[in-house]
Order: sequence, then structure tokens, then C-alpha cells
Amino acid sequence: MSKFWSPLTASLVPYVPGEQPKDKTYIKLNTNENPYPPSPKVIEAIQHAANADLRLYPDPTCEDLVNAAASYYGLPAGQVFAGNGSDEILAFAFAAFFDPAKKLLFPDITYSFYKVYAKLYGLTAELVPLDEQFHIRTQDFRADNGGIIIPNPNAPTAELLPLEQIRKLLEAHSEQVVIIDEAYIDFGGQSAVELISDYSNLLVVQTLSKSRSLAGLRVGFAFGSEELIEGLNRIKNSFNSYTMDRLALAGAVAALEDDAYFKETTASVIATRERVTAQLLAMNFKVTDSKANFVFISHRTLEAKVIFQQLRDKGVLVRYFNQPRIDEYLRVSIGTDEEMDAFIQALEQIVGE
Ligand SMILES: *Cc1c(COP(=O)(O)O)cnc(C)c1O
Repeated sequence: MSKFWSPLTASLVPYVPGEQPKDKTYIKLNTNENPYPPSPKVIEAIQHAANADLRLYPDPTCEDLVNAAASYYGLPAGQVFAGNGSDEILAFAFAAFFDPAKKLLFPDITYSFYKVYAKLYGLTAELVPLDEQFHIRTQDFRADNGGIIIPNPNAPTAELLPLEQIRKLLEAHSEQVVIIDEAYIDFGGQSAVELISDYSNLLVVQTLSKSRSLAGLRVGFAFGSEELIEGLNRIKNSFNSYTMDRLALAGAVAALEDDAYFKETTASVIATRERVTAQLLAMNFKVTDSKANFVFISHRTLEAKVIFQQLRDKGVLVRYFNQPRIDEYLRVSIGTDEEMDAFIQALEQIVGE
């Protein structure tokens, strides 16, 4: 607490990012980064853009990148927004669309940044419980509300909601904006982008951080009706017109253009996930049905907290959430095959002890 803080600053409960340890080299399976490097074409494009033009401001409309993302999904450019990571876009969207006079609905177990943004913008959140199997029940989102946000696949449960369910949600709440946060959609899900032409209240948010191996570049997108994209631009241009720098713009365009590399690396992550899931099941773990680049697991007898600490001691970092309903679970990002072999080996020692 400081006397210099505004009442708002004093009231905030900031997000706590996953550890990025500097003390030793861990096998890092705790922040859902992609284990594969970005496309070589991305590096090349960024190197090429690192020139004297850096003295100039970047394009505030992100036109080339918006066009690249629009053509990737076959949308008009007016239905695409590009931003400095999807977290920033989510922050803009909370400000742009959610009515503080009404409740914002999201699942009780979900991406923990939603609560933080709700607080920042003075919104009241109502948490809608997942069922016992950690499935989202869209029919439970029925309270009078000023907006809804759901990650699909959900985090940290990794479970995917079928598009049919999202369609029902959009129809039941046609007067509010429904945000589908698709940070993990490329690992086996079907994007709701195809529903945009039918529902003007749908905003789909994506990121290059996970499936394009670019967490360090900070690039995200939103797709939606023109009125929603205009809403985001109104917030952005009331905050910072240059959210994306020249290097990020160049690298992101190259990432979208190298589709072959993207397909190859996501297929590898998926194959590793399936193999590791089978191994975990054989080791007496419960494993949710993951369509993401991580698995959400619980051992039938050993405590999650204990496994977390012992893995850490053996140099393997995973994510443990000390919160109700999921304090017996661990979230484990999918690494390379070698990293996952080391993880399984460490687990075998822990479970065997
Ligand atoms: C990782 C993640 C994000 C943030 O992605 P950035 O583009 O890196 O900001 C947003 N939503 C969910 C559910 C995520 O897991």
C-alpha cells in the first residue's frame, strides 16, 4: 500500500504470470509456450525489418497484418483487429463491450486474467460452475448479464466446447457481446470464426503466442462484426495508437504466411500430447480430454502439490493452482518428445517412491 496510489490502484488484484525462472535451466512445462522455434521465415522478416526505418512510427492501422489475417480466414479486413498480444485485446474488449451495470459471466474455472480485468474496469463477475467433469454447460449461462467470455478450449481444463454449443449461447444472448478466447484452438478445435457472419455479437480472440511459437513477439487478433472491431479501435485509439511495433508487424505477417511450418509443428505437439496422455493414464492419472497444447492431470492417490514440488526438485516445472476444485490437478504444457520423456521419467520415480 502506498499513499501515492489511486483508490483504483489500491483495489487491484493483479495477475500473477507463470514463473520464468532464471536460477537454473528447467524443463519448462509451466506456461504453455510452444517447444518449437518460430518459423525461420519469421526470424528472417524481423531481421529484415530491423533497419533505419525504426526511427519512424509503425503503421497504426496494422494494415498489412490485418490483411494477412483477414485473408487467412477469408474475412473482410474490417472484421479483423490486430493487437499487442491477446491479453491486451481482451483488456480492450472488456472496456469496449461489457456493461458495468450488469454482471459479466464466465466459468468458475478459467483463465485467471478475466477476474483481473473485471476488477480493473469495475465490472461485477458471476462465475458459472463447470460440471463435475469440468465441462462448460452453456445452459447454465442464463443469468441476466452484460456480457460473456469463455476460452475455447478452456484453460486450464483443456476441454473443448463444440461449435453447436457456442451457436446456442450466441442465440440466447444476442443483445450482449460473447467473447470466445481461442488461445488454444489450433491444437484440435474448430474455430468459431466461421460463425461471425451469422452473429454480430460474437468476438473471437486469437494469439500467435501458442500455436505459432511467438509468445515473445506479443501478437494477437480479434475477429468479429465491423461494429465490434470499430469498438475495439475506439478503445485502442483512446489509449495507445501504436500498440504493435515494426518488428512484431513484420514477424507476424511472415508467421501467417508460413502455413506449412505451422501445420507441421502443431501436428507434432498434438502427436506428443496423445502419446503422453496414454502414458499418464497408464500411470494412474486422470487426464481431461485435451484439445490444447497442455494436459490437465490428477493422480488418483498422490497429492498434486507434492508431485509439483518433487518435479520441481528434479528440474521439471509444471503449473499448480492452489484454488478450490482444481487443487488436486497439475497443468502440464506439451514440450518436445525428449522433454516429455524426461517428465514421464521424473514422474515414474515420484510415483514409484
Ligand atoms: C495464453 C493465453 C492468452 C494470452 O495470450 P497472449 O497473446 O500471449 O497475450 C489469452 N487467453 C488464454 C486463455 C491464454 O491461455
